[in-house]
Amino acid sequence: MTLDLRGYQPRHPTLYQLAADGESLDFVFAQCPACGHLAFPADAPGCSHCGDPMKEAARITRPGAGTLLEFVTLHVPLLPGMQVPRIAADIRLGEDGPIEEGVMVTTDESQLRVGMPLRAVAHPLPEGEVFDCRFVPATEAQR
Ligand SMILES: [Zn+2]
Repeated sequence: MTLDLRGYQPRHPTLYQLAADGESLDFVFAQCPACGHLAFPADAPGCSHCGDPMKEAARITRPGAGTLLEFVTLHVPLLPGMQVPRIAADIRLGEDGPIEEGVMVTTDESQLRVGMPLRAVAHPLPEGEVFDCRFVPATEAQR
């Protein structure tokens, strides 16, 4: 089921990009030039840590990873074309990063535990050579 997505384009290139392994995702952060804090998303209006406007912030990528905080299975599409069922999750990025909403690859809640580490992977979209971000338990990371 592994698909090498090199050559595909990220649906949200300001948020993530394909990692060197052709499957995992790196997240794109902006590093505050004043305090060094990593902001996500990278186009956030200013540093949430020190308030610097971050006009000169460097873009930095880090392996897409986080902690599962909570999750719920959606059975009704919230948007036209949304595939259901799907498991939507609240995920804390990194060690102490922001909490973002993500979508799990699995649709089986029994595979998930609150507090488990997750990693981000590329998920091909039906409309062509484009991928979106999905999450899997980090224990599936090593092949
Ligand atoms: Zn700052």
